[in-house]
Amino acid sequence: MYNCPHCFAPCYSIWQRLTSNRRASIVCVHCGGKSRVSDRARLLEALGAELLGLAVVIAFFAWHWWAVLPVAVGVTVGLIALGDLIFPLVAAEAFGSASDTRRAAAHFWLIAPLALAVVLFLIVTMVKG
Ligand SMILES: [Zn+2]
Repeated sequence: MYNCPHCFAPCYSIWQRLTSNRRASIVCVHCGGKSRVSDRARLLEALGAELLGLAVVIAFFAWHWWAVLPVAVGVTVGLIALGDLIFPLVAAEAFGSASDTRRAAAHFWLIAPLALAVVLFLIVTMVKG
């Protein structure tokens, strides 16, 4: 169980964590406070998913599929649980609040250069080809 950042009561099970929409906020059944998954936990999951995807593709050619499947599922569950244990749930910001706007701006500036690079790559590819 994960604890609510508002009242510290256990409010969220690992099963809910694995099956829920990770972008949606979590409402505590004890105090009604809203919380969300930490950005750092999400980053760890994203990096882990990239490495796991690569490892599964390599393992798929080296092992039998029935050996790859439980390893992939186990590592995925472990990775999500690890991310949440290291970086616990944080209080959700109200939509449009100063901290929510700051967070949205930080996400934009993380993604914008990547999106620009992809667009430039596509333009160069189209012009050359
Ligand atoms: Zn609570």
